[in-house]
Amino acid sequence: MRITAVKTAATKGHCLHLWVKIETDEGITGIGECVHGDTAAIAVIHHLRQHLVGRDPMPIDAIFEELRRRHVFEGGFAGALITALTGIEIALWDLKGKALGVPIYELMGGKFQDKIRMYADCEVDPAMEFDAVKRVVEGVIERGFTAFKIDVDDTRNRSRFNHTISEREQESMLRLVDMACTAAGPDIDVAVDVHTRMDVPSAIRFARACEQFHLLWLEEPVPPENVDAMREVKRSTTTPICSGENLYLRHGFRELIEKQAVDIIMPDIPKCGGLSECRKIANMAEIYYMPFAPHNVSSPIGTMASAHVCATIPNFLVMEFHWLERDYWRTITLGKEDIIKDGFIEMRNTPGIGVELDETVARQYQFPGTTWFE
Ligand code: MG
Repeated sequence: MRITAVKTAATKGHCLHLWVKIETDEGITGIGECVHGDTAAIAVIHHLRQHLVGRDPMPIDAIFEELRRRHVFEGGFAGALITALTGIEIALWDLKGKALGVPIYELMGGKFQDKIRMYADCEVDPAMEFDAVKRVVEGVIERGFTAFKIDVDDTRNRSRFNHTISEREQESMLRLVDMACTAAGPDIDVAVDVHTRMDVPSAIRFARACEQFHLLWLEEPVPPENVDAMREVKRSTTTPICSGENLYLRHGFRELIEKQAVDIIMPDIPKCGGLSECRKIANMAEIYYMPFAPHNVSSPIGTMASAHVCATIPNFLVMEFHWLERDYWRTITLGKEDIIKDGFIEMRNTPGIGVELDETVARQYQFPGTTWFE
């Protein structure tokens, strides 16, 4: 089998979704999704296809590593180049699974779990009163989720650059955490995200103040670039600290894991290196008994691709679902069904990723200025 074409498309959903389609001379096609803040990765994919057309699509890890090393001077360790390679890598896994007639998880050593636990990203804010927060939380619980995440950082009155949290801000954030945890009750896990917007002393003070709520985790209290600073926060509190949505490859996670600078890691699988790489990152974390809880803003296809990794590792904790009140989650796939049922994704015995893009529906959301599978 030989690759005959590598095509891209982009849609505008909750965020930009980038699609990669790989076609072969045997008529088998693979679809991949990758997550990047803008369309820069599309140009990179178009540049990379000269190295893909005419090749055997089966040696996925070798193709990934060859293209990565070939472009080490163009950012072969982080950013758009890795995200572009990630979209290609996921499409190759879908293709390989279809060619061999097995789900991707079977090619990755088989399942540790049949169902992938999801958590819902909830939209609440510090200005809300308890009844409003409770309505959002009840909506999540009614849909079967056993965990959710809230954003508590309030940037309205904050300096753009100084990350010191005032006493008033801390109280406002804690009030929201308290309302969410009270509404959730003891059986539902609550995670809290502050989007790297604290300095170390503020983060330690806030994380300690959160200890009473027994959070699932506090996400990225400080920026991820300085691993020692993250570890300082982690070692100062019993609130579990989680980070990693903006790191790439094993290399990006190595120091974080080796220094045990966080309690939980959260790679974005369709962004940071793809299925093989994230399985290896999860395995690195596993030897430090560190759970793996992927960040996820992708469509049902990228989410399902990520679920294949989650199924094949022992240290999977929970994966994000970012689409509670969004547009095309249920319509963009040919199956027209929600892959998440009662808060879990059931791993099916379908070749490849197991979810197909409905291109007619997807095209209604084509991202302005992009081409459609060209
Ligand atoms: Mg986050």
